[in-house]
Amino acid sequence: MKLHWQILIAMVLAIIAGLMTDPSSTAYNVYGFIGTLFLNALKMVIVPLIVASIIASIAGLGEGDNLGRLGIKTLGYYATTSLVAILIGLCVVNITTPGIVDGVAAGEQLNLTVDQDQLEGQLKKVEGRSSGDIVDVFVRMIPTNIVKAAHDGQMLGLIFFSILFGFFMIRIDAERQKVLRNFWQGVSDVMVEITLFIMKFAPIGVFGLIAKTISATGFAAFEPMMVFFVSVAVALLLHAFVALPLLLMLVGKLSPTRHITAMSPAMLTAFSTASSSATLPTTMDCVEKRAGVSRKTTSFVLPLGATVNMDGTALYECVAAMFIAQAYGLDLTFGTQFTIVVIALLTSIGVAGIPAASLVAITVILAAIGLPLEAIGLLLVTDRILDMIRTAVNVFSDSCGAVLIAKSEGEQVLQSDPSRP
Ligand code: ASP
Repeated sequence: MKLHWQILIAMVLAIIAGLMTDPSSTAYNVYGFIGTLFLNALKMVIVPLIVASIIASIAGLGEGDNLGRLGIKTLGYYATTSLVAILIGLCVVNITTPGIVDGVAAGEQLNLTVDQDQLEGQLKKVEGRSSGDIVDVFVRMIPTNIVKAAHDGQMLGLIFFSILFGFFMIRIDAERQKVLRNFWQGVSDVMVEITLFIMKFAPIGVFGLIAKTISATGFAAFEPMMVFFVSVAVALLLHAFVALPLLLMLVGKLSPTRHITAMSPAMLTAFSTASSSATLPTTMDCVEKRAGVSRKTTSFVLPLGATVNMDGTALYECVAAMFIAQAYGLDLTFGTQFTIVVIALLTSIGVAGIPAASLVAITVILAAIGLPLEAIGLLLVTDRILDMIRTAVNVFSDSCGAVLIAKSEGEQVLQSDPSRP
């Protein structure tokens, strides 16, 4: 059976199992154990995969203006699609107005639903990580110690170092250069093989991750937040299934259905892990093997995209901040909405590809428009499930970027049947 069907079946079974399981039972711990093993295995390959693939791909681009051309195309794509995503979110939230009930700001009514204990725990995590923290993310782009950057998951820093390494590697003595090229290409190949092996366990891992989430949150918690939840979900789906496919068709003359089928294992993995970084190995595998993009393009566009390009996150930040602003009865002038759009765009670049990372960025927006950070508590109720959806959108957008850029470089992409195992 094809991998994406296996994963889908595992998800359905996980929802049933999750609903029947009490969070205090042994089964719950078993789900957690299985899920963590799978997630750890994926995370294990991230650092060597990012470093080796970026170095090998930059070296593969060779001298001349290849690198600059690919870089400009990639960054141009990231900025455009993130902005489109935010604007879709902004339209939807202005139409559905989840923070306003019967013409009145719903702040008080919604605050009642917040679980105080959970809120306090989360606020502790978020406190002190406001604007300064996001500026810090960019400062850390030039790490003082790359081993520490790898340890702390500072992907921007690692990417920066790897780009420099690849760039100068092809400018040294030919003999040494050859050794290094072979070495990094070899490491990159091995990482791809390890990923393929880990993905064999994806259905089991996904089962554990989803069953645990469903068992812990259930569905009842969502009711009071339903309009918000639906607004975010609809906006995300519009972006993934209307805006990005249009881009694929109009700009790349490519079949969106083919691409979605090709990317389904990666999107399902993103959905269950809620982490773009943890999904990166799978994304690279799908884009290369199932969509037919060259290793050269894949290994440049995707590691960068997993950290820098987050359409779903940018959209979510915008809708969430607008929702809170509506709930507090804030006057939503053009200026306020513009501020939200700009900060959502910038912070989505710095947000890490890990679960719940958006919450920190949302505190930055709230501070900028003068709202209390406590409002984050409201978002916790629905955060996990929305995180799963927005992460799948983040990963899908990266992959669309990869095929579009590959096509513009003259590659033959999405030629054969992508649903082959
Ligand atoms: N979980 C998201 C990701 O990894 C980031 C976020 O929006 O929280 O892409």
